[in-house]
Amino acid sequence: MKTLDQETLRSVVESVVARLAQTQASPVSNNQPAAAKPASSCGCGCPGEAGKSGVFTCVDKAAEAAHDAHLQLRKLGVAGRARVIEIVKTMAVSQAEPWGRFEMEETKIGRLDHKIAKLQITKNVPGTEWLRPDAMSGDGGITLEEYAPFGVIGAILPVTHSVPTLTGNVINMVAAGNAIVFNPHPGGARSAAMAVQAYNEAIRRELGIQNLITTIESPTLESFDLLCKNPHIALLAITGGPGVVNAAMKSGKRAICAGPGNPVVVVDETADLARAARNVIEGGAFDNNLLCIGEKAVFVIGSVFNRFMEEMQKAGASRLNAQQLEKLTQAAFTFKPGEGGGCSHASVNRALVGAGPDKLAQHAGATVAAGTPLLFAETDADHAFVQEEQMMPMMPIVSVPDFATAVREAKRAEHNYRHSAIIHTKDVDHMTAMAKEMDTTIFVKNGASVAGLGLGGEGYLSYSIATTTGEGITTPKTFTRIRRCVLVENLRII
Ligand code: NAD
Repeated sequence: MKTLDQETLRSVVESVVARLAQTQASPVSNNQPAAAKPASSCGCGCPGEAGKSGVFTCVDKAAEAAHDAHLQLRKLGVAGRARVIEIVKTMAVSQAEPWGRFEMEETKIGRLDHKIAKLQITKNVPGTEWLRPDAMSGDGGITLEEYAPFGVIGAILPVTHSVPTLTGNVINMVAAGNAIVFNPHPGGARSAAMAVQAYNEAIRRELGIQNLITTIESPTLESFDLLCKNPHIALLAITGGPGVVNAAMKSGKRAICAGPGNPVVVVDETADLARAARNVIEGGAFDNNLLCIGEKAVFVIGSVFNRFMEEMQKAGASRLNAQQLEKLTQAAFTFKPGEGGGCSHASVNRALVGAGPDKLAQHAGATVAAGTPLLFAETDADHAFVQEEQMMPMMPIVSVPDFATAVREAKRAEHNYRHSAIIHTKDVDHMTAMAKEMDTTIFVKNGASVAGLGLGGEGYLSYSIATTTGEGITTPKTFTRIRRCVLVENLRII
């Protein structure tokens, strides 16, 4: 099969970006649905979808087109899937900068350098090489278990990483032989459409398949509902917070759910405190703390608390005092009457999610040096910054009397999401005790949270960590059906 040269790739992307620029009537800010063109069922007279390279207004038409594409992909075998993945990985890396910038401008959350990095590392997402059949052989004959596609998957994207999650999902799901209909977050829908168009045009040029990857142009709760009901959608893959996870689990379709988290860190008296501080900053400041695995609260044994706070400052984080923390808390959360500050049922102010440390500092009445990656402050364990998944670069640090209390409070703050936890210690018994007690999908020892996704640690990458439903860090196998083929008595060579 011929390869897609850089010139062709550039022209595909440029034509998509130019077309999108023409259709961008008004900017869509975080959490604000794009101008609503209702997603409608087929037979309702919705407009034709020709020439839009995978971007649909109608859910049923998108699902139908993806179904056709799945059948075409099947004819090209595993080599065809591998070629799609090569196209997608090459494009995600070469377009990381313009696409990162586009997503930053659309969502207005996080950090541009990290938006770019999140696309560059999609080359670490596993592809077709992950799917090796299992074989059994004995006196009774030979049995082969193969990992087969579902067909068409309905996938939900978060606003926190629209194109990176889409790209990682495409690599995993197409490797497994599936086609996809995405219902992105409305605040990241234009970024998703841009990537879908570019990927599709390159796939069509090279392999002749149209609409292997589709997306809904103006996603709504209604389009999510239509996706759940569509008979072509064999499986749902959800990446998002508690609302969408609950909705998917009630839909009646099988759902793989990469749900919310509130990753907690314990630092004990044996830890390398300077390294622990650097690691907390690395993970907690990444993309202004938008990562679902990013450190959200730290519990430090009292005897080393002051030294740890000094190390945080030495490593470049900026400390807020009690008054500044209080001012920021009032801006960052809303409290229902009677709950007061520091309660465990505050609501996060979405306008500050993914905001930079400078903006948070302004709300705190503080000033920070340019380039400060993270704010931090001493809080108690009940504080809203500890208990809520706040997704802001402000790390609450709690002093605890002993290790048992640290783990107990960490577990309470993690809310049984069973997502991610981190320990800094040289005590192996502490590592084991906390790992068992937390029972999280990802558990990192003496590293930053991102090591859990292979960045600075061993392992592969995915932006969809199926915590709620237990499949773990998703791979191509996650999106397959296991099929068994049995031959009785014959074909053995021994
Ligand atoms: P969100 O829950 O607000 O939105 C996620 C998606 O669900 C969006 O596409 C949104 O339009 C849709 N949605 C929301 N409520 C819905 C409902 N009731 N019915 C149908 N669809 C609905 O989350 P977000 O702010 O976009 O992303 C951040 C959240 O996602 C955090 O909770 C984070 O932990 C989680 N997340 C998890 C993972 C993971 O791998 N486990 C990865 C990234 C993000």
